[in-house]
Formats: sequence, C-alpha cells, structure tokens
Amino acid sequence: MKLNLQIHVGQIDRNLIKSYQGYLDSPQWSAKKTIILKMWGWRCALCSAGTELDVHHSTYIRLGREFYSDLLPLCRECHELHHEKRGHGDDPLKGYGVNSGSGW
Ligand SMILES: [Zn+2]
Ligand SMILES: [Zn+2]
Repeated sequence: MKLNLQIHVGQIDRNLIKSYQGYLDSPQWSAKKTIILKMWGWRCALCSAGTELDVHHSTYIRLGREFYSDLLPLCRECHELHHEKRGHGDDPLKGYGVNSGSGW
C-alpha cells in the first residue's frame, strides 16, 4: 500500500516537471521572456551583467499567465546563487535592498 502511494506521487511529479519544461520550450514563454529582458534593458536584475540571462519565476502561482512582476531577468551566476540559497518562490530582490517595482 505504501509502495503504491509512493509510485503514484512520483508519477504526478514527473508530469508536473514535464509540463513545466514544455512550457519553457513554448513560443509563449519565449515571447514573454523577451518582453521581460527588454523591460530590464537586457541586464541581470541583481548585478547588471548582460550575458547568459535567464528569466526567473519569483512565484509559480500564475504559471503560464504570469504578471510581469512575477518574473525577473537573472544572469546564470545570480540565478544559481539564488536557487542555492533560497529556492524558487522567493523574491531575490528582497535580500539586496532593491525595489523590484510593484507597478509591473
Ligand atoms: Zn547577475
Ligand atoms: Zn529561477
């Protein structure tokens, strides 16, 4: 019984990961990403680096129909650091004394 439950949970997780990955490969996401990068002037929101930019989700609650304020451009380095320290679902700007701007 316990074993069955674990397998079931594992399958749900895989499907979630699969659909999230699929979303990240979609033209909708790539268009949204471009808008975010343009808004920030193609710079990392934390260190202003202009290379290897990812768009980070501050929250997943609106996945697929994010507000612009849910998304932040981060360079590879800041992104990795952020995930090491905090994981997803937290605003990376909080700890740096930067106002991310609620108007977005
Ligand atoms: Zn950076
Ligand atoms: Zn991220």
